[in-house]
This record gives sequence, C-alpha cells and structure tokens, in this order.
Amino acid sequence: MTREYLKKATLTSRSDASEVKEIVRNILDDIEAGGDDKAMEYAAKFDQYDGPVLLSQADIDAAIAQVSDKLKADIQFSHKNVKKFAEAQKASLKDFEVEVIPGMTAGQKSVPVHAAGCYVPGGRYSHIASAIMTVTTAKVAGCKHIVACSPPRPGQGVPPAIIYAAHICGADKIMAMGGVQGVAAMTFGLFGLPKANILVGPGNQFVAEAKRMLFGRVGIDMIAGPTDSLILADATADPMVAAVDLVGQAEHGYNSPVWLVTDSREVAEEVMRLVPELIEDLPEVNRDNARAAWRDYAEVILCADREEMAATSDDYAPEHLTVQAQDLDWWLDRLSCYGSLFLGEETTVAFGDKASGTNHVLPTSGAASYTGGLSVHKYMKIVTWQRSTRDAAKHVAQATARIARLEGMEGHARTADIRLSKFFPDEEFD
Ligand code: NAD
Repeated sequence: MTREYLKKATLTSRSDASEVKEIVRNILDDIEAGGDDKAMEYAAKFDQYDGPVLLSQADIDAAIAQVSDKLKADIQFSHKNVKKFAEAQKASLKDFEVEVIPGMTAGQKSVPVHAAGCYVPGGRYSHIASAIMTVTTAKVAGCKHIVACSPPRPGQGVPPAIIYAAHICGADKIMAMGGVQGVAAMTFGLFGLPKANILVGPGNQFVAEAKRMLFGRVGIDMIAGPTDSLILADATADPMVAAVDLVGQAEHGYNSPVWLVTDSREVAEEVMRLVPELIEDLPEVNRDNARAAWRDYAEVILCADREEMAATSDDYAPEHLTVQAQDLDWWLDRLSCYGSLFLGEETTVAFGDKASGTNHVLPTSGAASYTGGLSVHKYMKIVTWQRSTRDAAKHVAQATARIARLEGMEGHARTADIRLSKFFPDEEFD
C-alpha cells in the first residue's frame, strides 16, 4: 500500500462512545421501574415537553393540515419509491421446500415480526425521510403493528411533516417521545402499546446506546453511530461536485466523518481548497457541524491506482460510498463493503437519503463490513419446518437415536425409538 494521507483525522467517532453508557443505563432502569410517568418525566427534562404522548386522530389531522401541498407531493414521491424498492426486496425472499431424503420434506418461510418500533430522529434536524424509510419498509414487510416515535420540539410537539410522513407510510401509532425514553417506551410497551419485537431507525449516541443495551430482549436493525461517507474520485471527477458532496454529508454532525480517496493529486488538492469555502457558506448550525467534522474527522487519501482506492474503501467500509470515476461497472463489481453505493455524479447520497428508493438507515462506523442497511428482511424472521413419511422417519430415527446416545442425550434417543417401535413393530433396530 502506498496510501498518502493529505489530510488525517485527529479524532475517531468511536472515541466518545463509552461516556453515554451510564446515562443510558440509568434512564432505562428508571423507566422500566417507573413506567409511563417516568418516561414523561424524561421527556420534560430533555425535550421540555409535557403534551400528549400518543397522537390522536385529531392531532394527526391538525398536523396534516399544516403541511404544504408541495411538501406532501414530495413525501408521497419518496414514499412511492421506497415502497417500490421494498416490495422488490420482499419478492426476492422466496419461501421454499426441499425433499432432503425421499419422504422427508423440509422448508423455509419468511414471516414478519408482529410489532415494529420505528425511531425517527428529530433533535438536530427534522428527519422526515427517516419516517418514510422505517415505516414504509415495516409496512411492506407485513408487520401488524407499527409505532413511529420521534422527539417533540419544545412547546410544539413532533414536526407536522414527520407526522404526515409516518401517517401516510402506515404507522398505526405515532408517539411524541424521543431519545432513550422513546426507545424504552416502545420496548417495554408503555402507554398501552404492544411491546416492540424489533426497534429500527437511526438516532444519536443515546438512542444507539439504548438499542445496544436492549438488544436481546428486543431485536434491532443495527447499531448506528454517526453517519459517515466516502467518495472515490479519479482524475475525471469534478472537484466541485465532490467537494459539495463531502460538505453535504459533513453537515450531519460535528463527528460525522467524510473521506475522499483518489488517485489524482490535482483533484485532492482542489477539493481540499474548495471544502472550507463551501462550509463557510452554509447556514450557521450546519456550518458549525460541517466545520468541526471536516477539521477533526475528515481524511483525504491519495492512492497509487484504482485497485488501491477500492481496497482502501473496503477497509473503511463506509456507510455511504460514492464513485465519481470512469468505468462504473468495474467499481460496482469490485466494491463490497458499504451500506449504500452511489455510482456516478448523476446521483448522490442525498438522493438515497431522501427520495430515490433505497433505504437510508445504514451501517456506520465500519459495520458495513458485516451487514447491509435496513431492508424488508430485517423485519422478517426466516423460519424452517419439516414433515415426514413413516418410511423416511425410519432412516432419520435410527441416525438420531445413535447420535443422541453418543451425546449422552437418552431422552432425545427415546423420542426416536418410540417412533421406530410404533411405526415398525415387527422390525429390530440397533
Ligand atoms: P435524536 O432524535 O437521535 O436525539 C434526540 C434525543 O436525544 C432527545 O429527544 C433527547 O431525549 C435525547 N438527548 C439529548 N441530549 C441528551 C442527554 N444529554 N442525555 C440523554 N438524552 C439526551 O436526534 P439527533 O440528536 O438530531 O441525532 C440524530 C442522529 O441520527 C444523527 O447522528 C444523524 O447523523 C443520525 N441519522 C442517521 C441516519 C442513518 O441512516 N445512518 C439517518 C438520519 C439521521
């Protein structure tokens, strides 16, 4: 490897993860013991909110009335695309059965979990698209009960556009509660909700830690840290497009890493010149986030050739991976570690984040080396079944009894023996 770091991160997004553990443990324990009232206490403390937790139909109607027709049309457009993609995912999960030996048939089928809890983040930005991504996919999977929960804004409640999105995408209940208390309410079945079988959706470090701690008693989609993005750019890339795309992702948060990997020193230097200028041109909050993310977490890596660029990208296993280079088919074929891949400058991460159909709930912090993002499959259980003729059972029972006895599991062996003696009373077996 000849990687040259033209810019190196001084911090890693994992470095402050342990600090929140104690806070989250205490909140979860408190809410498990104290129920609805304790959850509402935390909502008042963290979000200065003491309004209704479960939204009524009148609350939903009032929110819908506040959303402009143009925004409604955009949310519907995004919902349609996400739904279409999720339906194709569901169709790709095929139930099957196979005759393992003559007369012994085994099969597999996919069944949705009953209750899904969808976390829609809302502290810093109004993540309308997260409602579309999580709720639509749960609905297409076939979950019978879907809760969408999102932090209320102090004195205002959940932003109307999030309510509208959750509602049209198929949420059965919408809950004005954020952070650990929202996650706890869905898991413990507070406020009359069914206990969630799976918790999905992105969130800040408190939300992520709560999901991590609750995993086991409830399923989770993944543990998501701060969002991260990598751009692979060759000499044909437009530095301005690459720079705008890096800044667009750095605005997520002060600790959201963005990485540029290139085999062109000219492209690297021009992007490094442009990014600070573009950041200064953002509105204040976004600027502060992007400035800190670029200063502390961003990297620019110069590689010898495209093979080394691809290997570098696979090492980072980014959440979002963009290719701005020639020969897109080569990259699609070669790359394997990413949450979602954006090929060519005609598309960009924000398209996937908001409206193009693929899911934006994606593995961060290198988790793309072992998992993909949120999909219909995350809400489904793959279960197996079998049935047998008596003749097939004869073969399986003999093998089962012998293996079980060798393992010392006499009770297991006798479940095979009783079948042999019942179905074949005139035969001897050893
Ligand atoms: P959030 O909804 O995740 O968190 C807000 C909640 O945090 C509040 O309701 C509050 O209860 C809790 N909180 C705040 N300070 C606290 C404290 N000191 N102690 C305990 N709880 C506290 O919203 P956010 O903070 O804006 O974070 C959203 C995150 O989601 C960002 O990191 C963003 O990058 C990420 N995100 C990721 C994706 C993805 O697909 N990976 C998509 C959208 C958003």
